[in-house]
Amino acid sequence: MTKAHAAACTDNRMNASSKTNLLGLTRGDLETFVAGLGQKPFRARQLMKWLYKRSAGDFEAMSDLARSFRAELAEVAEVRVPEILTVQASADGTRKWLLAMDGTQGIEMVFIPEPGRGTLCISSQVGCALDCSFCSTAQQGFNRNLSVAEIVGQVWLANRELGYAPGGDRIVTNVVFMGMGEPLANYRNVVAACELLMDDLGFDLSRRRVTVSTSGLVPQMLRLAEDTNVALAVSLHAPDDALRNELVPINRKHPIRDLLAACWHYVERQNARSITFEYVMLDGVNDQPRHARALGELLCGRPAKVNLIPFNPFPGTTFRRSSPAVIERFRDMLNGRGIIATTRRTRGDDIDAACGQLVGRVRDRTLVRLGSKLMSVAGGFCASVASCSSELVACGVRDGRRVEQAAAGVGL
Ligand code: SAH
Repeated sequence: MTKAHAAACTDNRMNASSKTNLLGLTRGDLETFVAGLGQKPFRARQLMKWLYKRSAGDFEAMSDLARSFRAELAEVAEVRVPEILTVQASADGTRKWLLAMDGTQGIEMVFIPEPGRGTLCISSQVGCALDCSFCSTAQQGFNRNLSVAEIVGQVWLANRELGYAPGGDRIVTNVVFMGMGEPLANYRNVVAACELLMDDLGFDLSRRRVTVSTSGLVPQMLRLAEDTNVALAVSLHAPDDALRNELVPINRKHPIRDLLAACWHYVERQNARSITFEYVMLDGVNDQPRHARALGELLCGRPAKVNLIPFNPFPGTTFRRSSPAVIERFRDMLNGRGIIATTRRTRGDDIDAACGQLVGRVRDRTLVRLGSKLMSVAGGFCASVASCSSELVACGVRDGRRVEQAAAGVGL
């Protein structure tokens, strides 16, 4: 094993083998890797074109590489992507994949088609440690960070599955880190993945088409302003610390004042247009006129947009979704203060693919046998709450399986 190969292997969780997963390497890493094989840096660029422009995974097909180099690559490297366990298609065109990350861990990925764009919602961790009270992923607890290859592999896979539009354009035009996990708690891997998403030899997405959503890890947000220039979304959900402490407990460590200061710093440092503030609409909890007024006070005159997300219920929760009229009133009050506020259309409802549903009834550390595969769903997976567990039953999967309802009610 070369030095580059050894180094590259350290962050390749999907590698059950000792081979280097090329999807885990940024352009610089790949250049180092090919140099370790005695090749010139331009070989890395050739490889990237095959990997990302053509979604190629087989070295043999990479016809402009010398036969001997292809053979060597086949010995020491691979293109390993998560395994697709199930695919569900919603009546509205939303598609959801249940992916096995390494034979023991599962996550979900959602594709949302809209006129003129296609958004892929990806995960950065298996489970989540942050414990937001209205989010079903929280109930599953944290299991582990995804590697760079596992993050990038989701996009690679979606490109391969969805292909190109008739004009030759990619179907996936936008990537949002709004699936399972807190992206900034997996900082190093998420930043490297963003680099590959925006690299013109990689996925070649513009900075405005890659969005990292955070619950508010302030120190990492400050670092992010130095390291990348992706679009930033912040899960605010409450206009005052008392309420936010309950809904988003990380607020006790990083209160709203510090969070907003980090937001404005990011905008300034990265010359960004604005920060998108996500605000889940919880009936009677944070959706009243006084909340809209307080939020308006916080954001008025700032480079901010507000995205109101109707709460998506999951088994065991005591929260309820605000009514459409209440959401509209809230939005109008913000608009009245000159703040752009939109309501997120809930997509993929029929397949439980909406925000905060990316986990389910299969509880922590539950072992599920999927055919011959033993999957520990620690940290949770499966947005398709009901459908996931019923699918497994439908597959005749019973051995060693203990499926429970999600943890008991949460609430204020
Ligand atoms: N951890 C990151 C990203 C993942 S969640 C973050 O907190 O930003 C993506 C968005 O969905 C977040 O704004 C999150 O607060 C929201 N969300 C979580 N659970 C939800 C639910 N049940 N209904 C609606 N939105 C939810």
